[in-house]
Amino acid sequence: MNSSTRYIGEPYAFVAADGAYVTDADGRRYLDYHAAFGAILLGHNAPEVNDAARAAMDGVDLTGLGVTELEVALAERIVEVIPSAEQMIATMSGSEATAQAIRLARAVTDRDLIIKFQGGFHGWHDAVARNVISAPDKAYGRDPLSKGILAQAVDSTLIAEFNDLDSVVDLFDRYPDRIAAVILEPIPHNVGALVPTKDFAQGLRDVTQERGAILVFDEVITGFRHALGGYQEVLGIVPDITTFGKGMANGFPIGGVAGRRDLMEHFNGRTGDVLMAGTFNGSPVACAAALATIDYLKAHPDFYERTHGFGERMRQGLADIVTELEIEATPAGFGGVFALYFTKAPVLGYRDLMRNNDAAYVAFHRGMTERGFLMLPMSLKRNHISGAHTSEEIDRTLEAAREVLTELR
Ligand code: PLP
Repeated sequence: MNSSTRYIGEPYAFVAADGAYVTDADGRRYLDYHAAFGAILLGHNAPEVNDAARAAMDGVDLTGLGVTELEVALAERIVEVIPSAEQMIATMSGSEATAQAIRLARAVTDRDLIIKFQGGFHGWHDAVARNVISAPDKAYGRDPLSKGILAQAVDSTLIAEFNDLDSVVDLFDRYPDRIAAVILEPIPHNVGALVPTKDFAQGLRDVTQERGAILVFDEVITGFRHALGGYQEVLGIVPDITTFGKGMANGFPIGGVAGRRDLMEHFNGRTGDVLMAGTFNGSPVACAAALATIDYLKAHPDFYERTHGFGERMRQGLADIVTELEIEATPAGFGGVFALYFTKAPVLGYRDLMRNNDAAYVAFHRGMTERGFLMLPMSLKRNHISGAHTSEEIDRTLEAAREVLTELR
């Protein structure tokens, strides 16, 4: 398996994907809520996107010199739709995007440390690969995701608590003039869906500005999914830098960094002082797929009404079921993303998630997957409703959820 997080104990092998469904090698069809960790946004093999990618294949494949029309068009589109984007560069993945964003923040501030939140995931690279889903005795402590990371890299990333501004201010006080950036998933979807309070989000904007640090919104999951302008549009808060990936090209490999012009200019190959490289960056096929995805969303604002409506129905339906069955569980999410935490409300930060019943969470997802509703059987993994899901499928999912939860009770 080409990613550590694709191995969940049972072997899955897929042979086909279409709309809201994927089919495995035994011919079993699943209604897909896993959506490739959220990379599928409009539905699998969306014709508008695949046609654009196919057309790009017959154009310039790759030159490794100068630019192609498609990468310029993509940057222009991102600048048009993302509130914080004055300039944009394309990478091939979300991890590359966050690595570049952090390097840029260190370069422009001439500081060494960054702050991330317990539960936030920003990719596999050394600057951020720590303290995601931590065991209670490791949470907020030193919890790298991997061996082989330099101690200095692990220790240069400080850990705060989501929705707790004091925990952030405290780090700024403890390390004056050393914090280059605060990076966050505006909704930490890597632990389900912790929705920020408006005060917390605004507080982060204010404190980073006051203390001379860069605010990085990692919108790799929330970008394009929750609103065309990303979750920053929903919040009405403009970060300094935004990173993208996943759903941006509906399954084609791409990522991006966008932000303030004075910061982004440091990546300028002629006049800048921050290295930005990658043979495949701005791949015409990936750029064509991203443009087609964004243009689809621009032309179909009802995508958001639809997925948000289905998400609401799913959360309300799950809430009704767990109330009726007297199960201690709390539906969470935003827009088309939903999760069912097996703990009582409110769930605001990672501290609340430490009470989550992991075994029940996994058993619920496993039970759903066995019934043909693909939900990653791993604790705290979220579910995604794509543009291809239908009203009838939401109803069927809730019926199956009632059966599984009744068995679990
Ligand atoms: N940032 C967030 C919020 C993510 O969820 C992920 C991947 O799960 C990444 C960054 C890394 O993206 P990629 O897997 O494309 O490198």
